[in-house]
Parts: sequence; C-alpha cells; structure tokens
Amino acid sequence: MTDRVYLWRKTKFSMKVLDGKGLAATIKEELKQEVDTIRLAAGKIPHLAAVLVGEDPASQVYVRNKVRSCERIGFRSTLIRRPAEMTQTELMEIVAELNEDSDVDGFIVQLPLPDHLDEDAVNLAIDPRKDVDGFTPVNIGMMTLGLPSYLPATPNGIMTMLERYGIPTSGKEVVVLGRSNIVGKPISILLGRKGDPGNATVTMCHSRTADLAFHTRRADILIAAIGIPEMVTADMVKDGAVIIDVGINRVADSTKERGYRLCGDVNYADLENKVAAMTPVPGGVGPMTVVSLLMNTLEASKKR
Ligand code: NDP
Repeated sequence: MTDRVYLWRKTKFSMKVLDGKGLAATIKEELKQEVDTIRLAAGKIPHLAAVLVGEDPASQVYVRNKVRSCERIGFRSTLIRRPAEMTQTELMEIVAELNEDSDVDGFIVQLPLPDHLDEDAVNLAIDPRKDVDGFTPVNIGMMTLGLPSYLPATPNGIMTMLERYGIPTSGKEVVVLGRSNIVGKPISILLGRKGDPGNATVTMCHSRTADLAFHTRRADILIAAIGIPEMVTADMVKDGAVIIDVGINRVADSTKERGYRLCGDVNYADLENKVAAMTPVPGGVGPMTVVSLLMNTLEASKKR
C-alpha cells in the first residue's frame, strides 16, 4: 500500500517540458513563410539593426543569435559594433541615424551598456515606431493601457508560450519573482490585463519581499526572473504548478570543457516530480525571446 501511494505521488504530475526551442523553431518557420509572401508581393524584406557596444561575452552571444535568426528566416540584419570606450554623444548619433534610416524597420541597442553610458537617455531617444524591443516609454505605456504596441521581447515570448501550450491563466494565481523593466514588471502587467493569456491575479515579488516562499507556494504559475542560480527549490512550490524559469545563470563546472554550465533560477531536478509543466534552461524562455523580436520586426516592416 505504501508503495502504491508513493508511486501515485511520484507519477501524480508527469511533468510537461515547455520546449521553447522547439516552439521557437515552429514559429520561425511560420514567420519565414510570411516573409516569403511579403517579398513576392511587395519586393521588400524586414530589416533589423542591432547595436552592440563593448565585448560583454553574454551580450555578444545574444546579439549573434538575433542576427543569425534574422538571416535564417529571410530578414535583413545589420550589426553595428562599437568599442566599450565610445562616448554617449557617438551612441546618440547612431540612434538618431537609425531613427531616420528609412531602410531600417526596427532596431535594438543591446543591454547592458558599459557603465559610463546612460541607458535611459538611449531608450528615450529611440523612435517608438522602431522600438522592436518594446522598451520605450510610449510602448510600455501603450502596453499598460492595453493598446496595440510592441511588447517587450521576453514577456511577449512567455505570453506566446502560455498561449501556444494552452496553459490557462484566467483566474489563476501568478507569482512573478523580479521587477525589472524588461522582464518582471511587464510580464506582471501583461498577465494582469484583460485578455487571454491574462485575467490572472498577479503578485510581483522582489528582493525586499518579506516572505518569498509564502507567495511562491500560492502560485499556480510561478515566473522566476531574478538571476540567482537555482534559488527556487521544491519546498517553495505548490504541487502541480506551472514554472516559467527566465533566469540564465553561469555556474562554475569543471566537468564541462568551457568551465561552466548554464542553469535557471529554479532547481529543475528538484521539481521534476512535483510540477505540471516547466521551461528548461537553456532551451525554454531564451529562444522565445528571440522569436518575439522577430515577430515585432515583421510587424514594424508591415506597418511601414
Ligand atoms: P535584474 O537584475 O534587472 O532584476 C532582478 C530582479 O530580481 C530584481 O527585481 C530584484 O529585486 C529581484 N531579486 C534579486 N534577488 C532577489 C531575491 N533574493 N528574492 C527576490 N527577488 C530578488 O534581472 P533581469 O530581470 O534583467 O533578469 C533576470 C534573470 O533573467 C537573469 O538571470 C537574466 O540573465 C535572465 N534573462 C533571461 C532572458 C531570456 O531571454 N531568457 C532575458 C532577460 C533576462 P530588486 O528590484 O529589489 O533589486
């Protein structure tokens, strides 16, 4: 009897892996077909430009992925690389040129920027019509009001994933860990909006939250975006919850050739028999973020 109960417990939730990599590949194929149709009809292909300042290794990987993804689905892409020592004035000139360039449909300035450069000033200078990262005040404001806008890439990727996997959000308790402008805050707003996905009751936690586990244990859907390796453990999670792990962390690992492994903010192995569905790291939210950027660029191109 004990064995049976144990077995039932172990198999109570056969966890579904929310395969962002696979879903992203499917959506890219859909986008590619749409790009082909547009090219044949209008003779124009979407054009994304990316500005990369400095040598930050993670940023280089992210930008390379974005540029490669553009090429694979038939977009044009332009990578503008500048040394970390560039001045604010020089960067603002590049932004002004990209705003004016009628050939560019949308562009991104890869963050973080070196410390001496003012990210807010750059963000405020980007033309909202070309803001395919969805970070400018106009697009954030439109999103908050529920009006059509370019949604920030990572939150939009999460929304697309919830939608395509048919994960219900209406009336659910969603707990978001993190309140950054690019992930925590916008995903909290999006899931609390009227709509589907949406209509959730959202709690946004951060480093000053008094009792984090109290909130996480109530979550039907837990979204972790804090940047602390495997901080969320099984005792913090409700049975049958859906886990969206946004974190991408490097942890030293001498068994790997490169000397580190990637992991999320959630302890994946710890939760495997406890939750209903979960995104892996890598291969979960990351690829969906890139796809969102491509969807926004296609949208910008169609508008123009
Ligand atoms: P930020 O560093 O900007 O924000 C982290 C947030 O976590 C802050 O709001 C902070 O609170 C909160 N936090 C930190 N420590 C704790 C704690 N102990 N308990 C509760 N909350 C805490 O990070 P980002 O939002 O930019 O990124 C988060 C993670 O997601 C990173 O690992 C990043 O690499 C990854 N990421 C992944 C993407 C993808 O495509 N998969 C895209 C973007 C990011 P406070 O505000 O009080 O400081």
